[in-house]
Amino acid sequence: MSTPISAEPAPLLPAVTQFLQRQHGLWIDGQPVPARATLATLNPATGQILCHVSAGDAADIDTAVAAAQRAQPRWAALLPAARERLLHRFADLMERDREALAQLESLDNGKPLRVAYNVETQVAIGQMRYYAGWPTKLTGETYAVSSPGFHVYSRREPVGVCAAITPWNYSLVMATQKIGPALAAGNTLVLKPAEQTPLTALWLGELALEAGIPAGVLNVVTGLGQTAGAALSQHPGVAKIAFTGSTEVGRAIQRAAATHLKRVSLELGGKSPLILFDDTGDLDAAAQAALWAIFANSGQNCVAGSRLFLQAGIHDAVVDRLAALAGQLTVGPGLEAASDLGPLISASQLDRVLGFIAEGSRAGGDLIVGGHRLGGRLSQGYFVEPTIFAGLGDESAVASQEIFGPVLSVFRFKDEEEVLARANALPYGLAAGVWTQNLGRAHRMAAQLKAGVVWVNTYDWFDPAVPFGGMGESGLGRELGRPVMEAYTELKSVWVKIE
Ligand code: NAP
Ligand code: MG
Repeated sequence: MSTPISAEPAPLLPAVTQFLQRQHGLWIDGQPVPARATLATLNPATGQILCHVSAGDAADIDTAVAAAQRAQPRWAALLPAARERLLHRFADLMERDREALAQLESLDNGKPLRVAYNVETQVAIGQMRYYAGWPTKLTGETYAVSSPGFHVYSRREPVGVCAAITPWNYSLVMATQKIGPALAAGNTLVLKPAEQTPLTALWLGELALEAGIPAGVLNVVTGLGQTAGAALSQHPGVAKIAFTGSTEVGRAIQRAAATHLKRVSLELGGKSPLILFDDTGDLDAAAQAALWAIFANSGQNCVAGSRLFLQAGIHDAVVDRLAALAGQLTVGPGLEAASDLGPLISASQLDRVLGFIAEGSRAGGDLIVGGHRLGGRLSQGYFVEPTIFAGLGDESAVASQEIFGPVLSVFRFKDEEEVLARANALPYGLAAGVWTQNLGRAHRMAAQLKAGVVWVNTYDWFDPAVPFGGMGESGLGRELGRPVMEAYTELKSVWVKIE
């Protein structure tokens, strides 16, 4: 893939510099609305304040929901082809502003600019294009009823006002994953982005208006989860809530949504197993895949392959390769071209990850590489070395809890039956990977692993056409593909007496 960056820290686009200097209101009904409080968003590479945004409260959520309610009937009444054109124009504008969006995301989240550009913006734009095509593809069905004299069919109708609450790790993708299907189905939306990464969501709000999407269709209320997020998840005017984040907050949102019986979809955490059998074949390729399965986005990835199971015959060979590869990774500020991994998102996430690493050592883990915070010129940021533990028990904290940082646990196993039981032993069920040359085993494992997605001889692939979501405590419902259109629509059955 191409990259627009040079070897030097990327110069910021003038539009990005101006955006960072602005007073940001909440984006409601197509205009900035000042809030009663503000919120600082930091650059995690330096710990310095990047920008202030408005922090919405319950009253602001009321205003945003009211705007979304006013806009919804007209948005839904647009001809499907007209909605498609507007959503494609929105994707066109994201394409136009791709470099600015990548720079903002790299600054706000810390991720390497190369990744923000080649992965995050690419995926986000691809999702918007995919969902832009859906308004003309929504269909109902006719039913072969056994009572005489009826024509019975179904219609898919928008649910009304939707809410999206998103995390900071892939802010743009998490936003488009919810904006795309919500708007394609004729709903309007209130988006509450993570407090750590509110900037690109505000940019998207303005782009929607510029694209010609009517005011009030996409509203962005920046602010805190406990205030703006909680108000949104309790609001009687919201018909559906789509949440991505931690399992703990997911539970709180489902409880809050119960009062008014909102539709809820939850994309939550994971502790995903990646399993390499003796017949993996190309160990270099598999080790590369295992490396990025855990260290992509500095491990702040819901599908991180954080438990690596290696069959005894290849265990040592893979561990050696992984240790060498991890040692070659450059950790540094996102805007520097040499950086493979950026910082963690925040000081509290840094403390949490370092706490897990200390606990791993106390529990008798064998630290193969990493284990430390980076100092020197990086000491003001939240940088941690890529870290690999071997020799931990399956039940230890490091090996069983979601760390959301660059920490891998490696295990040795004997056979298929054993590894399946160990892989499926946690309450999570988000993703899993299997490497083998044995076709039968690949399909057996894919069928039996407790995970919403299984990757065979690869890891971490996504496409807007392919449903994604978790089993067990990893979530509820599916995003992407056709199934999510069902989540954003009501199915109405119509009985017509014809005889
Ligand atoms: P988080 O703390 O659960 O926050 C997610 C969002 O919820 C944020 O916008 C947050 O606002 C908001 N929030 C917090 N408390 C709330 C409340 N009581 N009511 C309503 N909203 C509330 O998660 P995170 O730390 O940002 O993200 C990391 C977690 O997300 C990990 O567990 C990871 O596995 C999961 N994740 C899952 C997926 C997936 O697709 N399955 C993808 C990415 C991340 P604040 O920003 O103010 O806290
Ligand atoms: Mg930030």
